[in-house]
Amino acid sequence: MALLVQKYGGTSVGSIERIEAVADKVISYKQQGHDMVIVVSAMSGETNRLTTLAHEIDPSVRGRELDVLLTTGEQVTIALLSMALQKRGYAAKSYTGGQVKILTDNAHNKARIVSIDAMNIDRDLKQGKIIVVAGFQGVDENGNITTLGRGGSDTTGVALAAALNADECQIFTDVDGVYTTDPRVVAEARKLDRITFEEMLEMASLGSKVLQIRAVEFAGKYDVPLRVLSSFEEGEGTLITSDINEDDTVEQAVISGIAFNRDEAQLTINGVPDTPGVAYQILGPVSDANIEVDMILQNVGADGTTDFTFTVNRNDYDTALEIVQKKASSLGAREASGNNKIVKLSIVGVGMRSHAGIASKMFEILSKEGINILMISTSEIKISVVVEEKYLELGVRALHDGFDLAEDDSE
Ligand code: ASP
Ligand code: MG
Repeated sequence: MALLVQKYGGTSVGSIERIEAVADKVISYKQQGHDMVIVVSAMSGETNRLTTLAHEIDPSVRGRELDVLLTTGEQVTIALLSMALQKRGYAAKSYTGGQVKILTDNAHNKARIVSIDAMNIDRDLKQGKIIVVAGFQGVDENGNITTLGRGGSDTTGVALAAALNADECQIFTDVDGVYTTDPRVVAEARKLDRITFEEMLEMASLGSKVLQIRAVEFAGKYDVPLRVLSSFEEGEGTLITSDINEDDTVEQAVISGIAFNRDEAQLTINGVPDTPGVAYQILGPVSDANIEVDMILQNVGADGTTDFTFTVNRNDYDTALEIVQKKASSLGAREASGNNKIVKLSIVGVGMRSHAGIASKMFEILSKEGINILMISTSEIKISVVVEEKYLELGVRALHDGFDLAEDDSE
């Protein structure tokens, strides 16, 4: 018997029919003797619908009242799911974030969880009740309703699992797990049985949008075993854990997945004076404009000048280009230019730590396809390259193939 926290996303509770199906699923676990805490999102499309209503009144609305509005979505779902469980003869009890209480800071629309009071839930669980908690919401210390940012129900699930010391946090969604890469790009992409928190974080930050990044960080920090699985199909899903079983590593590939990000843009200043403070002078105004910089590259200086390149999110391209052009002339640089038709491809895997030659293998694979690498960056468990946008599909497929990540037919 275990204590399970299960989170069901918007599509999984998108209609009365689906809510009834979730109730049946939850009961099947309850019948196996598990204690069940269920976290739900708003019915699919509801958070967007509410946001649109608010925007009709004020397109720039933010803050307290937006949170009051958005949290109603989840409140609907907890009530309906509890009713469906009760109809089936099971004691169920719904909780809003504030009722739990999930205490957050007061950063409306993107609050962070400070603490969770597990006392009431513990008591109800002991009485055999199924607990249904509204995801994505909390209260600050003055009792104001807050939300955790879009996709925040994942974080509610993980945080509750940590606070209750649950055996596993299971995220039920519309995909059946985490894949070696996006199956829409590589049809042979394979579902992973297991991946580490670190790898999942890299994959998620690179655009594999299965889980909210903050939820993965939280799970890693508190070592909560996290499982992603389908609401609609049977299966074991993918377990995200810190624990790499030594026996498993025999078969464990060096590379776990290929991630990519289409939303990249690159800015370059050529011929900047190679003097102290130049990087700061260029990137200072960029960060003052609230633009996040990803890769940064500076060449070895020659003739007293150097070249400086960095990447930003494509949405920030126009603003960044303007800043860089102004800077180039005030610094007396030769020229400033940009390219917003670039993408980033990355290979991710903890196995890289113990295997040499992974980078050169990656570059070899890309060169065989005639793909030119514009920038390279590495971390302990990831190697990223920037290439032209037109090479995205070809590059991802070649890497997936070259690192042997495809489905094993012999099974
Ligand atoms: N309903 C919220 C959203 O759509 C929270 C969530 O589903 O995780 O972002
Ligand atoms: Mg979600």
